Amino acid sequence: MLAQGGVVVTVGATGEVALTERPTAVARTIRQRVFSGIQPSGNFHLGNYLGAIRNWVDQQASFDNIFCIVDLHALSQPTTRELLRANILSLANVLLASGLDPAQSIIFVQSDVREHTELCWLLGSVTQYGELRRMTQFKDKAGGKDERVSAALLFYPVLQAADILLYDTNRVPVGEDQKQHIELTRDIGARFNARYGETFVLPEPDIKTAGARVMSLEDPTRKMSKSDANPNAAIALTDDADTIRRKIRRAVTDSGSEVLAAPEKPALTNLLTIYSLLSGEPIPAIETRYAGKGYGAFKSDLAEVVVSSLAPIQTRLAELNQDPEVARAVLTEGAERAHTRAAVKMTEVQDRMGLGPG
Ligand code: ATP
Ligand code: MG
Repeated sequence: MLAQGGVVVTVGATGEVALTERPTAVARTIRQRVFSGIQPSGNFHLGNYLGAIRNWVDQQASFDNIFCIVDLHALSQPTTRELLRANILSLANVLLASGLDPAQSIIFVQSDVREHTELCWLLGSVTQYGELRRMTQFKDKAGGKDERVSAALLFYPVLQAADILLYDTNRVPVGEDQKQHIELTRDIGARFNARYGETFVLPEPDIKTAGARVMSLEDPTRKMSKSDANPNAAIALTDDADTIRRKIRRAVTDSGSEVLAAPEKPALTNLLTIYSLLSGEPIPAIETRYAGKGYGAFKSDLAEVVVSSLAPIQTRLAELNQDPEVARAVLTEGAERAHTRAAVKMTEVQDRMGLGPG
């Protein structure tokens, strides 16, 4: 607890901040702001669910949440008009089917709120080219072909910083792969604040220990990714039961036959992590149960755990897909609410920077 002027500030276990005003001692609770985004860039997979979406859903009652379908980010990689359109709506349905509640969370499409691109350009002026060149995601996605990838891929983290800083975000729940971008967001925000005066809240990454990096089923040294060209590398949230069984059966394993999570067993560690996160059972208990039984028995039970965990989401998803107007209404309302907040921030930023006639 700390005192600030006539106000007592108490930070609770879930990060809730309670302000008690003196002398009336009226308690007011201000929930911390959460912002996170997901690209409509393909098949949403177990990594997206366990590293991000499920945590958003679990925490949404405790925070003031904004979740964004970042379609502008998806333009950083080759796509088509038809694909992008279809992916935006299907991602909205995936988020709703997974349990995001529009009564508790603002859900909207990035390109509906123009302030994201506007702030992106302004933040570009306090970002160094070298910082962007050094980002792991850029290096991974460029794959050594820097001369040919879009400039948008290089600028991606600046747009992400704009997404986050625009809303005075305190916490950004993401998978481990986004940690570096959140650190850059803090650097950009701090640099802006130092140059133009306190404007942006500096956000903290919120990365869970388990599930933060679900790995590819084909190569356990690479993360599971929507943009992976190999469809067998990821379990899509929309995969049917037989597809899930087939993908897990053919998933690569490590040498030996013991079902163990260990540094020298990256493939089994990944499969055990998925099993544990979906079943709620600790990894050591699963290891004990499969001791001496080999990979086959474990994999076939894992497949059933995945199938039954995704089944309720898939049932809701099928209903939502029947009626696209539900998602469209959520996104329209979400964009209005997000825009109201973003516009206030942009006016402040423009004034700080001396833009316009004043
Ligand atoms: P792309 O390959 O197009 O970048 P992606 O699978 O990385 O797609 P994003 O839309 O970039 O998905 O990320 C959405 C969220 O999912 C982010 O919070 C990201 O950290 C998280 N995420 C992505 N992949 C994984 C993974 N393999 N394990 C855990 N979290 C992940
Ligand atoms: Mg990604």
